[in-house]
Amino acid sequence: MGKAFDALTAHLREIDHLNAALELLGWDHQVMMPPEADEARAAQTETLSRLSHEKFTSEHTLRLIDAAEAEISGADPDSDQARLIAVVREDYAEQTRLPTEFVAEVARVTAMAHGVWAAAREANDFSRFAPTLTRQFELARKTADYLGYPDRPYDALLNQFERGMTSRQVQAIFDEHKAGLVKLIAAISERADQVDDSPVHQAFDIEAQHQFGVKVISAFGFDFKRGRQDVSVHPFTQSTSKWDVRITTRFSPDFLNPALFGTLHEAGHAMYEQGLSDAVAALPPLDNGASLGVHESQSRMWENIVGRSHGFWAWAYPQLQAAFPTQLGGVDLERFYRAVNKVTPSYVRVEADEATYNLHIMLRFELEMALLDGSLAVADLPRAWNERFEAYFGIVPPTDALGVLQDVHWSSGLIGYFPTYALGNMLAAQYYRKALADRPQIPADIANGKFDTLLGWLRENIHQHGRKFTADELTRRITGEGIQQRYYLEYLQAKYGAIYGI
Ligand code: ZN
Repeated sequence: MGKAFDALTAHLREIDHLNAALELLGWDHQVMMPPEADEARAAQTETLSRLSHEKFTSEHTLRLIDAAEAEISGADPDSDQARLIAVVREDYAEQTRLPTEFVAEVARVTAMAHGVWAAAREANDFSRFAPTLTRQFELARKTADYLGYPDRPYDALLNQFERGMTSRQVQAIFDEHKAGLVKLIAAISERADQVDDSPVHQAFDIEAQHQFGVKVISAFGFDFKRGRQDVSVHPFTQSTSKWDVRITTRFSPDFLNPALFGTLHEAGHAMYEQGLSDAVAALPPLDNGASLGVHESQSRMWENIVGRSHGFWAWAYPQLQAAFPTQLGGVDLERFYRAVNKVTPSYVRVEADEATYNLHIMLRFELEMALLDGSLAVADLPRAWNERFEAYFGIVPPTDALGVLQDVHWSSGLIGYFPTYALGNMLAAQYYRKALADRPQIPADIANGKFDTLLGWLRENIHQHGRKFTADELTRRITGEGIQQRYYLEYLQAKYGAIYGI
């Protein structure tokens, strides 16, 4: 490349290094850090955030972008170079709207909030978290005001995670989806006794759970030479480059699903990061997923479309039985497959089945919108949560830890983020459908423990590109149309129709 383009990428790489240090501090915070380091870590995070933001939003960055763009003029608009300029220009326009002091304040408040949330959740005491949550929503509102929005403040926040998507679009997709979903769940609940999930509710040795998860995700293609797995309160994936992608999980001693499916889920995120092309990996900020929705499509595909499929268990179940002969020796494949696919209203989103999962997201989306526009006060949130939960699921969380306090996101200032989970489910079904059309042998290969047919397709169509294309561009390039909710609904109808005999 030319001199000006090289100067821009060298500058962006320095910023990326500061951000990687921040990511690693964040990982350490949730995995390793002793509890009394909260304030010291918050100050460290604040400093690094300020340095990174100052450097990126400087006039110098703009001059480098302009010079690099002039130098590559005439380049293929789909080239890595042209895409980098377009993405950086957009990020620059967004970030320069936020004052650096404000960004630093958000980083400090957020770093402090994690411990407050974890303690409140542990003590099952929402009132301990309420002041922090109030502060986070004030900061979110301020962020939206700085960023600007043509319609609703929520759009400015959502746009940070899902570029170009608006709350009205999300609302329309959710409304359309909800009708079919509620009908399906009602039909299933009439036949709830068809599936017994007691096999997954037994005592399972934690080390044996860990070993089994490692075996499965190694077979999927998670590269432990460029990644690791640890334990945290809330499972997540953190990447500092495609050469260091870390996942976490949490274990339950008497329920198999959280660690097992959580591990497959995070591995799906991690394989996306590990699958960037070397060219894109060298051009931050292209070295990320296209959007959070696309990212989630990868985790949900490996967790559910693969990990809860009959073919997958035909391969994996004998190995799981060998790991837990006392618990599962007398449970046949058919019974186990049904057990991991039981549909039932449950309190915790990350443990929800595939059918009810998106209802958890719709509930959060509605509450976030109400908190942000001021029609709901934080003090009233637990009551609003429980009322809405009952309307959606017919049950009321017995504790706030199992209700409004369950998720880490709001404490982390991730407001406007939840819809991307539901969009991810929809995109997973849409992409998988195309993968099957392109490579019909995928299900048979999965049943033989051969996962690289699917992974290869994902690498080629999605992973290698990083952030080169927006979610909408990528989805249209792959499937010929924008995001559709109906493929996910059709997938659910076919799967649960067979399991529940509907
Ligand atoms: Zn995820």
